[in-house]
Amino acid sequence: MTMEPDRWHEPTVTLPTRKEPPSPRPVAGCPECARLGQLRKAAAMERDSSTIADCNILLRTHRTGH
Ligand SMILES: [Zn+2]
Repeated sequence: MTMEPDRWHEPTVTLPTRKEPPSPRPVAGCPECARLGQLRKAAAMERDSSTIADCNILLRTHRTGH
């Protein structure tokens, strides 16, 4: 009795290329968005990626009222 090992040919898992979500745009006329937009711009100059991420998160809260 020969035991042939099962050979599983699993389909190659293709992970979707993780792209950065598009940065939210400050909404015109909203002072909080304008503030965050300026802050994000300043953070980008400093290469402060954590502040940029924070600004993006806060900019996305515009629809729910910051
Ligand atoms: Zn806003």
